[in-house]
Amino acid sequence: MAKIPPRQKMREQNPNSRIYNFQEVAQGFTKEMAIKEAERCLQCDEPKCINGCPVNIDIPKFIRLIKENDYLEAIRSIKEYNILPAICGRVCPQEIQCEKACILSKKWDPVAIGALERFLADWERKNQLKECPDCEVPNHIKVAVIGSGPASLTCAADLAKYGFDVTIFEAFHTGGGVLVYGIPEFRLPKEIVENEIETLKMLGVKIEYNIIIGKTLTINDLKNMGFMAIFIGVGAGVPLIPKIPGLNLNSVLTANEFLTRTNLMKAYKFPEYDTPIKIGKIVIVVGGGNTALDSARVALRLGAEKVIIAYRRSEAEMPARKEEYHHAVEEGIEFKFLTNPVKILGDKDSNVKEIEFIKMELGEYDESGRRRPIPIENSEFKIKCDTVILAIGALANPILIKSIPEIKLNKRGYIQVDENGMTNIEGIFAGGDIVSGSATVISAMGAGRKAAEAINRYLKSSLE
Ligand code: FAD
Ligand code: SF4
Repeated sequence: MAKIPPRQKMREQNPNSRIYNFQEVAQGFTKEMAIKEAERCLQCDEPKCINGCPVNIDIPKFIRLIKENDYLEAIRSIKEYNILPAICGRVCPQEIQCEKACILSKKWDPVAIGALERFLADWERKNQLKECPDCEVPNHIKVAVIGSGPASLTCAADLAKYGFDVTIFEAFHTGGGVLVYGIPEFRLPKEIVENEIETLKMLGVKIEYNIIIGKTLTINDLKNMGFMAIFIGVGAGVPLIPKIPGLNLNSVLTANEFLTRTNLMKAYKFPEYDTPIKIGKIVIVVGGGNTALDSARVALRLGAEKVIIAYRRSEAEMPARKEEYHHAVEEGIEFKFLTNPVKILGDKDSNVKEIEFIKMELGEYDESGRRRPIPIENSEFKIKCDTVILAIGALANPILIKSIPEIKLNKRGYIQVDENGMTNIEGIFAGGDIVSGSATVISAMGAGRKAAEAINRYLKSSLE
């Protein structure tokens, strides 16, 4: 291989100033940077990067088009596979997907595929060049999509392209699922999610907000309303709570509650938005995934003086995106690895005052492929704190599932589907976190796409 120039470094807000604001940390590539980065791509005959992408975007093609300055064709080519490029370019864990598979990574830094995808999507948005993707002739067959996270948005868009009459039913007052209530503004500005949802509206997808399927309407109501197939994409938004004493103390929160109040209900803009949030001087976040890191970085921006993340495994096993970990370290978040909470202790007024932890060591590999953390006897120690945020994982959203007792679940409580994404109930499909458990935006999108293909086959064959 010829010598490859160094990878372009994303422009970022300075850590010393960004911890006082909620504006986006990563600032994207300039045109010059995008072209330089595109020139690093070898245009491989057998591009490994495509297989590394869960939705198989033709990566060399869009990179070649950037080099040729044909941005419009480049973004069109991405959108054949991915309806949410501005989102994926920002939050996909590229380092374990396309960029990991990129041939350059054997010897050099891989091509910055995510940053290039983001560059194109931002260019399209800033120049107001959004186009409606091509659609088949409308067939007037109604399909319902439940939830509006990335699985549902992708499924709905693909179904609309197949010509179906699609309606999304969303429990919240706004669309996007975790993209709006979980991931903070400084990682994914909500204006971008709204803009991506506009593409669905251009495709003729209708969105009904404030409707909880299983409460406001049932699956049978949807069938009676004429929906011939249903896609369930309700996610895994119920927090997993550790079984330790002290959970009822004041200022012990789940990450879900903390992030929803901050992001969806805009507590970070208080008093402009009427959502107060109390944050102490010392905040401890328990967990090691994206949710834990997001909570810690939000707490810092809300005014905490010291934020500590306690994670029961080591740095190597942390499931959070590497870029977010790097940003959190730059911002001064402290990490305590191999550390697990035993109990939360309070003062006489039931306010949290400290956590007792135990040190852990790593044992054999478990079913997740990671080494199992094991407590070290007599290694307990305490850390003082004012707020505790629990971010140890999530469970399936139960409301809809409970309203359809005949639907088959796996032993972890998630919906079971066949290879086409169909549940045991004919005409009802599911995908995303409600099937896989907490995963990634792009894997949810891949599941939505697969289900749309299957719904298309199912409905069109039933018409023949
Ligand atoms: P969700 O995004 O959870 O959407 C489900 C939607 O269904 C919600 O809008 C919900 O309100 C709605 N709903 C639920 N029940 C009902 C009902 N009964 N009726 C109607 N609507 C209903 N992944 C990444 O790839 N990169 C990241 O950086 C990243 N960061 C994350 C940060 C946080 C804080 C969290 C929590 C997750 C993060 N993830 C990340 C994971 C990723 O966001 C999820 O895997 C993905 O959003 C799952 O998509 P989904 O469509 O299955 O469900
Ligand atoms: Fe370009 Fe890397 Fe894909 Fe090869 S593997 S085409 S170098 S992005």
